[in-house]
Amino acid sequence: MVYQSDLTYRMNLANVSQFSFEMGPIRPPSEGKDQSLLIRATRNCPWNRCLFCSTYKDQKFEYRSVEEIKADIDVARFLHDEIKAASWKFGLAGKVSNELIRAIIQGNPEIYGNLEQLPLQNLGNVANWIAAGAKTVFLQDADTLIMRTPELLQVLKYLKENFPTLERITSYARAKSCLKKTPQELNDLHQAGISRLHIGLESGNDQVLEFVQKGVNQEQHIIAGKKVVESGISLSEYVMPGLGGRKWSEIHALDSAKALSEINPDFIRMRSLVVRKNSPLFLKQQEGQFEPLSEDELVGEIAIFIENLNCSSYVISDQMSNLLFEVEGQLPRDKERILGEISKYQQKPPMEKLKFRLNRRLRSYLGAYGVMSQELNRKVAEALESIQKEAPEAESKTNQAISALKDEFI
Ligand code: SF4
Repeated sequence: MVYQSDLTYRMNLANVSQFSFEMGPIRPPSEGKDQSLLIRATRNCPWNRCLFCSTYKDQKFEYRSVEEIKADIDVARFLHDEIKAASWKFGLAGKVSNELIRAIIQGNPEIYGNLEQLPLQNLGNVANWIAAGAKTVFLQDADTLIMRTPELLQVLKYLKENFPTLERITSYARAKSCLKKTPQELNDLHQAGISRLHIGLESGNDQVLEFVQKGVNQEQHIIAGKKVVESGISLSEYVMPGLGGRKWSEIHALDSAKALSEINPDFIRMRSLVVRKNSPLFLKQQEGQFEPLSEDELVGEIAIFIENLNCSSYVISDQMSNLLFEVEGQLPRDKERILGEISKYQQKPPMEKLKFRLNRRLRSYLGAYGVMSQELNRKVAEALESIQKEAPEAESKTNQAISALKDEFI
């Protein structure tokens, strides 16, 4: 195809009554990697009390009606069909390119005139999803399983009818909501298309769970997790190293390993604690009721956790809050290798450790945001210089720079 960047494509706007669909604030990193289509099944979090979480603070939980969700799916379908039509028109045989999306933006200024608008995010989401094969959908927000089963089944059916290429539909769920579903309901949801649930275990220790107000105890986590596994739905459990602080570090690691060994989920995802300034846990820290671990203590805690896992899950550290991405592999096969990677870090000389930690955090930051502010740049440069000079303040400067980088992490 000979393509000119000033080409425009006018969408057939008579085909739809709205041009945008709702999108929630987050999705798991794996859904970003797979370019999942994001469909918002409910708004915000029905629990919203976990001390470490600020994602939905001050946002009221709301159910969305099946009709509302279907209307959003209609918009996604419209965009899908228009992108495909434009692609065929310009000789791309159904494929997506940046120029193609630019042609759609240029051809429909009344929708995409404002670069901050939701319609533009929607267009980007659908375009990336098509480019990745239109195979995966992620249902937002924090707890889709709180929906009444017949309503969720209708949504799943509608998704599959509209997008026959779908291979995977996933969502976040609270353990409490999984507990409320009967085995038959979970089975029906699996048959209707739910292929994976992401549950935040965070900790398997009851004191930690109570302190952070997770609203679920170890036993409930285990029963809920096992129910999901037995239904055939793939289960991804998130654990949060560091959540027990100094006080409960070891028992947090041991009990989390114990709970997850019993559940034996398909995936164990590490999401190391970052105490956000706008979270209630930050207040507890200020009041002296929570003492966070240093990064090296956190690595030690992860070693205890991995060592005590007795299951056949796949462990992943795919969240930017984690220091050691090497903590990844199939258990039990890769356990020794993972422990070896942790030990390799622990044995580095002090200045090497500082350099490694700063470089890792910098890489995560730049990977997500591209550029740093002047202030961040200054802090990082100062830290690097002090490491190079092996200055006495190298550790404090590095910690300051890392903490400034982490403040921006999603
Ligand atoms: S249940 Fe999840 S989304 Fe809700 S407050 Fe807790 S961590 Fe945040």
